[in-house]
Amino acid sequence: MVLRSSSRARFGRPLAARPRPVAAAPVDEALSTIIPEPVSFSELALSVAMQNTVAELGYTMATPIQAGSLPFAMAGRDVIGQAQTGSGKTAAFGIPIIERLDPRDGPVQALVLCPTRELAVQVHDELTRLGKRHELRSVAIYGGDSIGRQMEELRQGAHIVVATPGRLGDHIQRRSLTLANVRVCVLDEADRMLDMGFAPDVERILRQCPPQRQTLLFSATMPEWVRRLALRHMHDPETVEISTRPEIPSEVRQLYVQTTWADKTDALAQILDQPDVVMALIFVETKRTADVLQAQLGGRGYQVGLLHGDLTQRERDRAMQQFRASHIKYLIATNVAARGLDIDDISHVINYDVPLTPDEYLHRVGRTGRAGRAGVAVTLITPSEILKLRDVEKHARTHIEPATLDEDFPALVVSAEA
Ligand code: AMP
Repeated sequence: MVLRSSSRARFGRPLAARPRPVAAAPVDEALSTIIPEPVSFSELALSVAMQNTVAELGYTMATPIQAGSLPFAMAGRDVIGQAQTGSGKTAAFGIPIIERLDPRDGPVQALVLCPTRELAVQVHDELTRLGKRHELRSVAIYGGDSIGRQMEELRQGAHIVVATPGRLGDHIQRRSLTLANVRVCVLDEADRMLDMGFAPDVERILRQCPPQRQTLLFSATMPEWVRRLALRHMHDPETVEISTRPEIPSEVRQLYVQTTWADKTDALAQILDQPDVVMALIFVETKRTADVLQAQLGGRGYQVGLLHGDLTQRERDRAMQQFRASHIKYLIATNVAARGLDIDDISHVINYDVPLTPDEYLHRVGRTGRAGRAGVAVTLITPSEILKLRDVEKHARTHIEPATLDEDFPALVVSAEA
């Protein structure tokens, strides 16, 4: 795309801080990390207006994902940022968008795709805060809200559109917006978009954006589809990977229980019967396991909520609300669907399936023991899975104790180490 000369001058500003990859402690290759050097916003080549805005927001030091990706994104490069919610990734793409767009170029210059309505609203709010000194208008469009009102908002002109893929598709069909002028496209929480079933919509939308646009992709994990998406739709992307390993608080007891495939649901039921189980989050690897397990537990009289990507937004909201309000004690979730589920009262995290990676283990277990409370994390393993668990334990640099379930009395007994 041809950039206006005024914009080009802005793009050409020298960038003060370049992220320098630093060798992290020796870790497994899958966890290798680029650690950007700490950098303050005043060292980054931002406009005075943006410097003032971030200062007003109380941001002094750039977070690692910001320090790592901002220089590349500001230079117009495609970036893959591997970072979690809460890492400051909205400003990591929001600042370059706001700095690089020109209000005179009209709508729609930047498109941010988000997996959920909540995230779309959050991103729109942050962009509005960051853009308060720039004459750019952001509009959020998402399902479950009046399409007529959104069309009216779009008619008033939107330089930036923050959207969920399904609803964006509706607007494109109704011709209430066009993607022909998009210069920057952001895929926020790409792995979650996959989990929510948005993969075909995302691909279709990307094909409708001008091919020479800049693409910024953020994802906490890198499933195959996300890798393929990057290969197919990005130009020579720079990858910034931030390790956001949650520390497991010492108040969290980490246990594993050996069982068999046939007895797994029995073992789970015995754990759920423990008197100290106040609120339990049960992790499974697939949506199918989640459905089957809910039916099995339901058949045994347990009222269990369900959270996975094949459910509608309304169903997911309902499950979360019921769990949060303690109307249901147990919630079955797939990894990605449970992201953003920050509830301080979760007493137990149960890994019905052994997590596939150390990071997945740490993120699941990090859902308990929040706000200084005690918590228990129990992983169920079948005999052949002990090595898998040991591997997770080693690379997550943590310790998981063996425990047994008493046959006669449903007590979870921590065994002496072998
Ligand atoms: P995000 O991951 O974008 O949802 O950001 C998480 C929170 O961190 C938000 O409340 C942001 O306002 C805040 N935040 C983002 N960047 C910074 C920064 N550099 N310093 C302090 N807070 C920040």
